[in-house]
Amino acid sequence: MAITSEGSSSSTVAAVQSRLLSDASSLIRIRSANPPGRERPVAEWLADRLEGIADGVSVEEIAEGRANLVATFEFGPGPTFLLCSHSDVVPVQDEGQWDPVVHDGRLIGRGACDAKGAVAAMIEACERLAERRGELRGTLILACVADEESDAEGVLALVSHGLLADAAIIGEPTSNIAVLSSRGAVRLAVRFHGRAAHASSPSQGVNAIYGAARFILAMESLDAELIARGSMGSCAATVVDGGSKLNVVPEVCTVHVDRRLGPGETSAAAVCEIESRLSRVADEAPGLAYELSPAGITVEAFDLGADLTFTTGLLSALGQPSPGPIFRAVSDAPHLIAAGIPTAILGPGSLDTAHSNSEFVDVQDLEVAADLYERVALAYLGRAGPHGTPVVSTGR
Ligand SMILES: [Zn+2]
Repeated sequence: MAITSEGSSSSTVAAVQSRLLSDASSLIRIRSANPPGRERPVAEWLADRLEGIADGVSVEEIAEGRANLVATFEFGPGPTFLLCSHSDVVPVQDEGQWDPVVHDGRLIGRGACDAKGAVAAMIEACERLAERRGELRGTLILACVADEESDAEGVLALVSHGLLADAAIIGEPTSNIAVLSSRGAVRLAVRFHGRAAHASSPSQGVNAIYGAARFILAMESLDAELIARGSMGSCAATVVDGGSKLNVVPEVCTVHVDRRLGPGETSAAAVCEIESRLSRVADEAPGLAYELSPAGITVEAFDLGADLTFTTGLLSALGQPSPGPIFRAVSDAPHLIAAGIPTAILGPGSLDTAHSNSEFVDVQDLEVAADLYERVALAYLGRAGPHGTPVVSTGR
């Protein structure tokens, strides 16, 4: 896609690029690794950056040292459009990742594509839109939320505090292709209880690790079944913790399971299916008991499809013939959808480099993302639609 400074009024391409690089680099330097989650300095930096540009800026604390940033642009009566991304990043493998470098047209550093590059592009889009306020109506919100990389506390706080939006874009690395479907995830912990015995007389005990092992193999075959069914979901045993001493038949063993959900699969049905395998394992091992509990937040899968008014309007505003491939990772989008807000995922960079020690974003991708965010917001909030009807409507 050609880079254009269209809509950026007096800004030259070079000025746009330097603003984007400067903002993205400043954000990368803020060490907002999650865990433990220290996003408040990001929210404060954004509050300073957007002061005087937005009509309202607020740093909303969600826990000590952790905060969301919400900036509001008021253009009068009309719909509300939300641009949202996240301020936390996964921990670094190498401290040098906090020092962004530009090499070969790439900005390299922790969060370059997931998702501080998207945040920088959203700032640029909002600045341009604020300069074009005469052409707009309604409300534009820029939110940068905490805790996307763990339990989504940031976006959940935003929703529970009464955020109302008619449509939203979540900034995540999608190579600047709008994505309208996403996998979900449900994580479980299964704690097996057997009976301890001297390891020299194993038959006197009930070995919890053997129970766990049978369950782990059942999860492996469940994953194969999902593939055979054509599901976009998956199943993996990811953490095992059991046994206490070399010469003791283990009494307890815990297994964590990460079950990804494809569109059409619900977390409730997925948990039922795992439970039925679990009870089979227990039936085959007299004396073995188990407890099943959630481990981490559950996120449902979604597919907005291409036929809703929102999605067709969005794709036409972007000049994109069809939605991009399903988003493989977890994002904050399902939480907005659960709150009734039609949401697409769109942002610069590729998921392939996110979370890696060579995370980067192409500088050109940042410029394209800023253009796309501006274009979608203009389509949604522009006065250009017939009789003030937004070009992109949710149909609600
Ligand atoms: Zn992300």
